[in-house]
Amino acid sequence: MKNQMTVTFNAISENEAFARNAVAAFCVSLDPTVDQINDIKTAVSEAVTNSIVHAYPQNAEKEQITITTTVDDDSVHIVVSDNGIGIDDLEVARQPFYTTKPEQERSGMGFTVMESFMDLLSVEKNTPNGTVVTMTKTIRGADWKKKKH
Ligand code: ATP
Ligand code: MG
Repeated sequence: MKNQMTVTFNAISENEAFARNAVAAFCVSLDPTVDQINDIKTAVSEAVTNSIVHAYPQNAEKEQITITTTVDDDSVHIVVSDNGIGIDDLEVARQPFYTTKPEQERSGMGFTVMESFMDLLSVEKNTPNGTVVTMTKTIRGADWKKKKH
């Protein structure tokens, strides 16, 4: 069975904890381990922080971020989107240590963290502008399915 929720909130750092905890709470029906929940929280935090820090150079507090989370029988799919300035070269942006904000002590590791903590990561341009980050994680793998539920 599929279940879906969407939250939209202002692009301010105060909402980062809300965002990661909202997604984590929604995933509980999949009965994830603590490690899996922490991976999801970390990945959501990186994606949301990127939209807060990079997407809206002006008046970020008036702008918004939307997260749609879908759970199905074994996986969670998370889509984080903004309508900001977007990313010119998506491939370059995903390289480890690539950052356009070194002066703010950014390390350029956000996408690398998302990629390693989730099973799938895609970063695309939003329409008409902005960025869409889609992440998938399988919570119930083959071992879980072998047992009868
Ligand atoms: P860190 O995440 O380690 O603090 P970072 O945010 O610079 O540093 P990444 O998260 O890997 O590193 O992002 C790489 C680069 O991609 C950013 O420096 C920024 O230029 C661009 N970027 C990422 N997300 C967005 C976004 N939502 N809108 C616009 N640019 C973005
Ligand atoms: Mg980042």
